[in-house]
Amino acid sequence: MKKEGKPVDTPMDKLDQAIKEAVRNNGTPSALEGLNFSNTEIAFVDKTDAELKKAYWLFKMMNKPWLVNMGTRMGIPAVRMGLPFVDSMVRKTIFYQFCGGRTLLESQRTIERLAKHKVSTVLDFGAEGKETEEDLNRTMNETLRAIDFASSISEHAVVSSKFTGMARFGLLEKIQSGAPLTEAEQQEYENVLKRVDSVSHAACNKGVMLFVDAEESWIQDPIDDLVNKMMARYNKERPVVFNTYQLYRHDRLQYLKDSFKMAKEEGFFLGAKLVRGAYMEKERRRAQERGYPSPIYPNKAATDEAYNAAIRFCLDNFEQIAVSNSTHNAESNLLMARIIVEKGLKRNHPHLNFAQLYGMSDNITFNLADAGFYVSKYVPYGEVRDVIPYLMRRAKENTSVTGDMSRELSLIYKEMERRGLA
Ligand SMILES: Cc1cc2nc3c(=O)[nH]c(=O)nc-3n(C[C@H](O)[C@H](O)[C@H](O)COP(=O)(O)OP(=O)(O)OC[C@H]3O[C@@H](n4cnc5c(N)ncnc54)[C@H](O)[C@@H]3O)c2cc1C
Repeated sequence: MKKEGKPVDTPMDKLDQAIKEAVRNNGTPSALEGLNFSNTEIAFVDKTDAELKKAYWLFKMMNKPWLVNMGTRMGIPAVRMGLPFVDSMVRKTIFYQFCGGRTLLESQRTIERLAKHKVSTVLDFGAEGKETEEDLNRTMNETLRAIDFASSISEHAVVSSKFTGMARFGLLEKIQSGAPLTEAEQQEYENVLKRVDSVSHAACNKGVMLFVDAEESWIQDPIDDLVNKMMARYNKERPVVFNTYQLYRHDRLQYLKDSFKMAKEEGFFLGAKLVRGAYMEKERRRAQERGYPSPIYPNKAATDEAYNAAIRFCLDNFEQIAVSNSTHNAESNLLMARIIVEKGLKRNHPHLNFAQLYGMSDNITFNLADAGFYVSKYVPYGEVRDVIPYLMRRAKENTSVTGDMSRELSLIYKEMERRGLA
């Protein structure tokens, strides 16, 4: 029986079904001949046999929940305590799988290797959760250096920034709570504004784009506020500053639409980076502990639906919205590729970006790039002590709860078999 009020078999429903079918069969919809996410030869084209074997070993280690739990519990304090052997152990194992290097210069080789296969880089100085004014200024200075560096290496240069590297978490939390700021805190906020404006201004001047990460919902309002100010100031001629929309939050699809309305009224380009969201467990736990409704959708299907609706919304308005489809989800990547092809848009249009994290989902990145789409890798860099929280999140993400091979591991294994290495 048909459900009342729900249209069935719209062209989009059919498209979704075709994509789901294609993903299930490891094939591709006909409009996307030549794009095949299960082609591991293209996916690992930049990996030598030795690199592939090392990646296999690493993902196999990360597949063990007990090892990752132990590593994540002990890793961050051990690195922060400055134990020298821990630093070198991290560098010999997980570091180069997920990071470009310790410095910009060290990351250059990674950037060039990606560029050789038509993959752009989003440079990401890995600092987060900084507290002292000295550290917050250091992040700003590093971000300015990254903008300089990025502008010298590519025409599609992008730098990513986490505002908790430039603003104290507690300050953002207090602003969102609505509690009045002391005089010292007001001054502190002025300093934050200056830092954020400096990096946005530099990005605008140097022809670089600045992607601002989304973080926990209880500090996101002041981050949105800062990013909206910067977009209104610097996105008049072209998209420079991008906000991130976490579609696992049930208010964000509407917020994206409201942001676009505001951008149109005020006459600037909306920069929209779409993600599902990285802090689901933390968000739900806090909501439960403090007795407020969880901001996260109750299930994955609802998040997926909102995410794909956001892609459609951005593509329907692509002339005024520059979108970065930042996901490892095959369906969402195929959906955007399919819409681009069906609308007859330029595959490498600068407003139509796909992005994955360095060291993950190479099957999506390199196959999209091979098919002529504009794809980027997020390449974090920094000292081990700065990037360790990021590395621990990547390790957790690649752990198997069921004991099955992770997605990455099975792809690497498939390529090893193809090369006769398995
Ligand atoms: C280039 C890039 C940049 C990123 N930047 C940010 C950022 O700025 N801020 C940020 O928060 N994250 C960021 N992320 C991480 C992102 O939010 C996701 O956590 C991660 O990419 C996994 O989602 P997915 O779409 O790739 O894949 P999928 O595997 O399809 O989705 C997993 C995600 O779905 C959601 N989900 C899973 N189960 C449920 C459930 N039961 N109910 C509701 N939702 C559920 C969660 O968000 C989970 O992370 C970034 C990711 C990429 C690739």
